[in-house]
Amino acid sequence: MTVLVTGGAGYIGSHTVRSLGESGREVVVLDSLETGHSEALLGADLVVGEIADFDLVTKLCRERNVRSIVHFAAYKSVGESMSHPLRYFSNNVGGSTALIDAAVAAGVEQFVFSSSAAVYGSPARVPVTEDLLPRPESVYAETKWMVERVLSWIGETRGLRSVCLRYFNAAGASFDSAIGEDWSVTTNLVPIVMKATLGKRPPLEVFGSDYPTRDGTGERDYIHVVDLAEGHVKALDYLDVGKPSLTCNLGTGKGSTVLEVLSATERISGCGVPHVFSARRAGDPAVVFADPSLAERELGWRARYGIEEILQTAWTWHSTHVDGY
Ligand code: UDP
Repeated sequence: MTVLVTGGAGYIGSHTVRSLGESGREVVVLDSLETGHSEALLGADLVVGEIADFDLVTKLCRERNVRSIVHFAAYKSVGESMSHPLRYFSNNVGGSTALIDAAVAAGVEQFVFSSSAAVYGSPARVPVTEDLLPRPESVYAETKWMVERVLSWIGETRGLRSVCLRYFNAAGASFDSAIGEDWSVTTNLVPIVMKATLGKRPPLEVFGSDYPTRDGTGERDYIHVVDLAEGHVKALDYLDVGKPSLTCNLGTGKGSTVLEVLSATERISGCGVPHVFSARRAGDPAVVFADPSLAERELGWRARYGIEEILQTAWTWHSTHVDGY
């Protein structure tokens, strides 16, 4: 039995491919390489193609005896999703429904979906539990929520069992620095802090210093990419024993502020982080962190690492791969 990983050449995908291999599973990756990097696969089996290609996916699933799919392939920029909404609906929702259609046709039984805490929007309370009704505040978040709904209905009508994993703020790199984060464009805090420290981009803009938090800057739940990868292995273990569909958070349950990220990076790197304070970014909530207890209860998963390991591995990766792979 093989696991098909879509988007396996991407950031979280490649760490997951590695963890799945270490768990003894046979893996095949389907990636268009539009944003992924073949180097990130460390030799894993790659088919270059589109998730929306029904014939390709059904053939691949049948030939390789695919029982489970882990689906990462998607666009992920909140800002771009607002300027090019149909690009996001088409790729993230249309692509996923075509993939799910092919999966069902080929007899795939299990599906793990890369969702996001963005589905909660500005949460009404923290820690965020899964029973909070999703209220997407961007097209990107809406596409994640729509695919969750598609999976719920296909579970009901076609028996495809799924686990939707709502990631909080993924960050960090592998501990041996073999793989890490390599975007041509990013708006996420940790890679921006690293690149600003290395002089590879202008100073970090700290968006808002008047939030009701301990130091006035935004607080988020940063989760190590290796912990996230292990969450996917646990999700497959869960589905492998026949358990029912599940949606759960993957976070640490602990928040760090922008200034805490900044000062820990200065300590770890031994360099100053060039930064300026600026206005709040539209749509940014003050505080978001997970209640991760459902994942612990149902999947037997909990984050092993904290902000220290995240920034240490991110710094080692970025300072040894200043131009990416
Ligand atoms: N942030 C910032 N400057 C940046 C990028 C992010 O101050 O250049 C802040 C942002 O306001 C938020 C936190 O860092 O409080 C995490 O932002 P990110 O975009 O990484 O993730 P989000 O939680 O918004 O999805």
